[in-house]
Amino acid sequence: MSPVASNETVTSNGSSNKPWKKVQVSALLPRIQNPIREIIANIDLSAPPEEGVDQPLINLGLGDPSVFGNFPPAPESIAAIEASLKSGRAFGYPESVGYPEAREAVANYFDEGEGSNFRPSKNDVVLAHGASGALEMAITVLADSSKNVLFPKPLFTAYETMSALPGCEIRYYNLLPESNWEVDLVQLESLLDENTAFVMLNNPSNPCGSNWSAEHTRNIAALMQRRQVMVISDEVYAGLAWDVTGPCPSADAPRVEGKFNRGVFTPYASVCGSSPCLIVGAVSKRWLAPGWRLGWTIVHDPQNVLGDVRAGLAKLAFRIQGPNSTMQRSLPALLANTPEKFYLSTMDKLRETSEALHARLAKIPGLKPLLPQGAMYLMCGGLENFDLANDKAFVEALHEEERVFILPGACFRLDGFMRFVTTTPLPILLDAADRIEAFCARHRKTIA
Ligand SMILES: *Cc1c(COP(=O)(O)O)cnc(C)c1O
Repeated sequence: MSPVASNETVTSNGSSNKPWKKVQVSALLPRIQNPIREIIANIDLSAPPEEGVDQPLINLGLGDPSVFGNFPPAPESIAAIEASLKSGRAFGYPESVGYPEAREAVANYFDEGEGSNFRPSKNDVVLAHGASGALEMAITVLADSSKNVLFPKPLFTAYETMSALPGCEIRYYNLLPESNWEVDLVQLESLLDENTAFVMLNNPSNPCGSNWSAEHTRNIAALMQRRQVMVISDEVYAGLAWDVTGPCPSADAPRVEGKFNRGVFTPYASVCGSSPCLIVGAVSKRWLAPGWRLGWTIVHDPQNVLGDVRAGLAKLAFRIQGPNSTMQRSLPALLANTPEKFYLSTMDKLRETSEALHARLAKIPGLKPLLPQGAMYLMCGGLENFDLANDKAFVEALHEEERVFILPGACFRLDGFMRFVTTTPLPILLDAADRIEAFCARHRKTIA
C-alpha cells in the first residue's frame, strides 16, 4: 500500500508533487468591475469581418490622445524627462507625497495669484499615479460603506470602479444635454443627505466635451456651500476648453499666460469661496501623455476643516509610494517650459476636428451631435430615431455591419448617445461618418 493518495507520486528526492488546488483570491475582488468591458462584452474587435465585408475596422473607442501619433507631447516635456533622468537626482525614494520641488511646481502652476480665491502651497499637494491614482485616493479618504457619493450622469465610469473597495452607495446627478451639460441643481440637491461624503465634479467633461461657465460653476459652489457638502473636482481637462455657454468670464478673470486658458475655463477653486474641496489633475491629457502616470491632488481648505483629510491622503500616499522619481523630478521643468503655443495648438486641432465632425454628423438625418466646448470628446444623440432597441444595440449592429466601433452612452450611464474621441484624425472620423450615414439610412425608423 502506498502511503500517498492515488493522484500523488513521490519523486526521487522524496518530496510530494501533489497537484495544487486553484489559489483563492480575496473576497473583496468581485466588487471591482470594469463597466465598459461588461457593456461591450458582445463586441469582439479581433473577430474577422462578416462574409462580404472587406472594410478595415475603425476603432473610435479609445480615449487616449497618443494612439494615432497626431498629438505628440511637447518637445519641452521630453527634454524635461531626459534632464531628470540624466541629473542623477532621481534614483532614490521621493517623499511618499512627492518631492517638495515637484509639489511646489504644481502649487505655483495652479496659483491664481494675489487677491484670488485659490493660492495653494506645496503642502497642499499630493502626487499620485495619474488622475486615476489621485481620484482613487480622494475617494478612499472620504467614502466608506456607510456613505453615499454623487457622480455625474453621464460620467467617466472609472469613478465607479474606484469606489468599489470603499463600498459606498453611488447616486447619479443629471447633466442636461439640452443646456450644454449643465448640472440639474434641483435634482442634485434632492440626492444629498447627511451621509453624503462628496459630490464629484468633472469639468471640462469626459464624455460630454462640455465646459461650464463661471456663472454655472459659481451656482454649483453656492449649493455646496449652503448644504456644506465636500467636492472632488476632476479637472484633468483644466485649460482644454475653447468655448463656453453664456458669457465668457474674461472680464473679471483676465487671461493669464500658461494658466488654463482663463477666460474660458473656470477652475472650481477659483469660485468656490471658502468651501473646502479637492482638485485633481494630471499630465495625461493637457500634456498628451497618459502613459506617464503623473497626477496630483490639491487640497483647498480656507477654513482649516480638512486636517483629517490631509492626514488620510498622506497615509494613502505612504501605502502607495507615489509616482516614479524620474517623472516627479521632471515636473517643474515640464510645467514651466511647455510654451503657451503648445496648448493653443492642441486646442485649435481639437476645435477644428470637433467642428468638422459635428457639421458632418449634423447632415445625417436622425442624429443629434452636440458641439464640444472642451476636452477630447463629442457626444452624439438621436439614437432613438433608429430601429435598434437602444444605444448598445446600435453600436453592436454598427460594428457588425460597418466595422466601426464606438462606445455607446450606456458605457457612461446615459442611454441614447454615442461618444466620439476628437483626437482621432479627421479623415478617419469622416470615413466613419460615411459608414454611419449608410448604416443610419438602413435603420431609420419609418414614421407610421
Ligand atoms: C482620462 C481621465 C482620467 C484619468 O487620467 P489619468 O491621469 O490617465 O489617470 C480621469 N478623469 C477623466 C474625466 C478622464 O477622462
